[in-house]
Amino acid sequence: MKKIIIAIDGFSSTGKSTIAKQLAKQLGYVYVDTGAMYRAVALFSMENGYINKESFDVQTLINALPNIRLKFQYNEELGFAEMFLNDENVENQIRTLEVSQYVSRIAEISEVRAKLVEQQQKMGQERGIVMDGRDIGTVVFPDAEVKIFMNSSAETRAQRRFEELTAKNQDVTYEAVLKNVQERDYIDSHREDSPLVIAKGAIEIDNSTLNKEEQFEQVMELVRKSME
Ligand code: C5P
Repeated sequence: MKKIIIAIDGFSSTGKSTIAKQLAKQLGYVYVDTGAMYRAVALFSMENGYINKESFDVQTLINALPNIRLKFQYNEELGFAEMFLNDENVENQIRTLEVSQYVSRIAEISEVRAKLVEQQQKMGQERGIVMDGRDIGTVVFPDAEVKIFMNSSAETRAQRRFEELTAKNQDVTYEAVLKNVQERDYIDSHREDSPLVIAKGAIEIDNSTLNKEEQFEQVMELVRKSME
């Protein structure tokens, strides 16, 4: 059967990864969470003191880019690929609210984007991939057979993220999570390089009105059609 590329874009915490994982499982495809890559670069920048509350040394980060090695490694037990930064498993560390507070500023830097986009395009060379992010249907794979744009209200999304973080015992408030979701949405959709916009040919799905099964069925229908 013809192998395709499925590009899923949208605002933060719209459930992109949930649907992407379901699709990959159903189709036997690879799932790539590109947000994890930007998060790993943010973690690297924080650990090395390039970015903090007061300052952001963009040039030093750009110079250090060749020293950042990112790799996904599939974890059988978890059923998804974990993020490795310079051979260290950083899957848990990249999911904190602190990383979320810096990541969108890291993702504005064109040199960072160029490096990650190149790696993402290589991963999709053979097709048979489901990739989620903010610029997959517009920049990484403008020729993707299926493009989806996910959305739902900021409050629904913040509630989802808040529950995820507290389930991992992170000490956060709903208000702080909502503020972060709104700030990231703003930066991600207003940046100069590869802003979050609805890709040409993308189907919009509003997650606050559909349940998970309906949503999955709707997307699978598109996938089946594109494979005919
Ligand atoms: O998907 P996730 O919320 O983990 O992404 C974290 C951040 O990484 C986003 O808010 C955005 O700033 C950046 N990102 C991006 N392009 C992508 C994926 C993520 O700019 N393709």
